[in-house]
Amino acid sequence: MPRLFGTFGVRGVSNLELTPKLAFELSSALATHLRNRGVVAVGYDNRTSSEMLEHAIVAGLSAGGCDVLRLGMVPTPVLSFAIKHFGCDAGVMITASHNPPEYNGIKFWDSDGAGFQRSRELEVEGIVSNRAWRRAPWNRIGSCRSADALTPYMRAVLAAIQRIKRKLKVVVDCANAAGSVATPALLTRLGCKVVSLNCQLDGRFPGRPAEPSPENLEELAKTVVACGADLGTAHDGDADRTIVVNEAGEVLTGDRVFALVALHHLQGRERPKILTTVATSSVIDDVATKLCGSIVRTRVGEPAIIEHFRKHGGDIGGEENGGVIFFDWTPCRDGILTAAKLVEALAASGMSMSGLDATLPRYHQSKRRIRCPEELKPKVLKALERRFSRYELDRTDGLRVSFEDGWLLLRPSGTEPIFRCFAEARDGKRAEDLAKLGMRELKACVRKLS
Ligand code: MG
Repeated sequence: MPRLFGTFGVRGVSNLELTPKLAFELSSALATHLRNRGVVAVGYDNRTSSEMLEHAIVAGLSAGGCDVLRLGMVPTPVLSFAIKHFGCDAGVMITASHNPPEYNGIKFWDSDGAGFQRSRELEVEGIVSNRAWRRAPWNRIGSCRSADALTPYMRAVLAAIQRIKRKLKVVVDCANAAGSVATPALLTRLGCKVVSLNCQLDGRFPGRPAEPSPENLEELAKTVVACGADLGTAHDGDADRTIVVNEAGEVLTGDRVFALVALHHLQGRERPKILTTVATSSVIDDVATKLCGSIVRTRVGEPAIIEHFRKHGGDIGGEENGGVIFFDWTPCRDGILTAAKLVEALAASGMSMSGLDATLPRYHQSKRRIRCPEELKPKVLKALERRFSRYELDRTDGLRVSFEDGWLLLRPSGTEPIFRCFAEARDGKRAEDLAKLGMRELKACVRKLS
């Protein structure tokens, strides 16, 4: 049986790869893993298949003797918050995040509100592949009740944000997805004038694809400019990430959203520790310097950041895709709180969004990729190490090569037969040159080894 769990739980095309039967088996295995007891919170996004899969998940959990707390349709950070708020033993989120609408996914959550560690996922996977789940006897079948998690979540976010005295106009683009139930209402209650874009729930995502990449945010950019808004915010499908558009309609990369939020959120803390991955812009190093704090770079992906936090602690975590984790809030990326924090930062600054962004150094990035068969990846990486041996190298995830005026990340993808090449420099041409150098070396290694 192929590996079920990827970086973000189990993902697949609904009713084809991810069927109600598989959902039932996964949740039966989760109940067995939890020793057939405890309370499990279950939430789902608004994809057309989510409710169907939720029925199967709930059935598997209660058949396995777990009590179920049904949260209904909620963004992922609300599920994470609810697990701690209601004192649950675990959680299940049904979402495929930024993937197209035909996909769905199932992800398990720990009692602390973080995603399952790899070892626990492997244990559940083992139970599924051996069909070793245990059902409860008739008098131990789990109960089911519904709970409203959104109200306490919104209340807690409002309590965590300072009163915003400046009247800001914000265009909020939720991709017709789960964030629609939280962010527009939240920013309105914070005192913003909110213009909603793609905030009618529709699991087919007709407004734009669920990935908030610059090419998918053209309508948001146009709307921000057309209605003279101070900024625009966009979530991915489950609202654990936020991307921002400034008043001129320019998209800020996720790195910069993370950097601005980190700078604001950690202001006044003593030597704050920022956790991020090897793929994040150097702008986060500038923020750490401004705060007299430290920075730790992990492997790519939210699980690696959480893993470091669990072992060694940290104040904030974030990635280049616009996912920010506030460790004093919940150990899960929270795009809704990120949007609120950014609005708070902007209001406090008295500046425009582009003005606030310009307080941090500008970097240019170039991101490329090359096809590379799975079996060649380790050899290519070794060969690259030799080719770049005279530079300062970081082997945390792939190879990060530091130059005096920039860096290069050459990293095999964990999910596709490709090698990625990221370059960054203060100068645009230098970033392109570094990317070209990376691609040239990559091509040479792949050609020589295949
Ligand atoms: Mg997501």
